[in-house]
Amino acid sequence: MHYEGVLRKMLTEHANPVQYLLNFKDDLLIMNQLIGRKIKIQFDGYECLNCHKNKKIFRQGFCYDCFQSSPKVGEWIMKPELSKAHLDEEDRDLDYEKKVQLQPHIIYIANSSNPKVGVTRSSQVPTRWIDQGAHEAVIIAEVPNRYLAGIGEVALKEHLSDKTKWRQMLQNKRDEVDMIEVAKEMIQYLPDEVKEHVNKEPALWQIEFPVNSYPDKIKSLNLEKNPVFEGVLNGVKGQYLIFEDDTVFNIRNSEGYVTTWDVSIKKST
Ligand SMILES: [Zn+2]
Repeated sequence: MHYEGVLRKMLTEHANPVQYLLNFKDDLLIMNQLIGRKIKIQFDGYECLNCHKNKKIFRQGFCYDCFQSSPKVGEWIMKPELSKAHLDEEDRDLDYEKKVQLQPHIIYIANSSNPKVGVTRSSQVPTRWIDQGAHEAVIIAEVPNRYLAGIGEVALKEHLSDKTKWRQMLQNKRDEVDMIEVAKEMIQYLPDEVKEHVNKEPALWQIEFPVNSYPDKIKSLNLEKNPVFEGVLNGVKGQYLIFEDDTVFNIRNSEGYVTTWDVSIKKST
């Protein structure tokens, strides 16, 4: 079976296990069905997700020029505490920023390797955690805008990591902790204007990933350097494909790459 398309992060559905979909213009690949099959992936060039030109991807699927100018990748995306739409102040496009920033956001902890703090729009639950490869997550607070989530996160970062150890995540190695206890403990460190939005009865979210076996040593596939790769898919976790030979492929870091996929019909394992 032959497919072609521009890589974007996989769509997900919170089933048991998570269902992963790769969305190409003319095809929708159900990644769970590709597990156990040999896949050949070829890199054919770039297509910026914003201007659609064949320009080298700089970051987040965008070419350099788009990354510098598009409101979709302003600095407040990565640093929510810099959000200013609630003050009516523009970064790159106030209408867009109001639409995205002035909606409910959550402050959460998630465990993909170790408990970490993060923020996201409420509409991104549980997508964000699936994308991180987190097995467990707890919502600490739900606030009305991105700025409040950001300052809550900044305060909690003093006490908890905000980074995922992606190698450990892919090897399925993680600290076993009581996430609800950690969430409750964090509340005291929140700024007062965030504390009033605390989740009084935090629930534990649990996520199962479709992985047959986890890699020992990890080899990271970079399609720019190795434009053709062939391997048997062993599973999907976070936004990574995991192959039988311990190669992992981060789809999210490869957004905007034009690719060709050949999938063998017969299962290898
Ligand atoms: Zn562009």
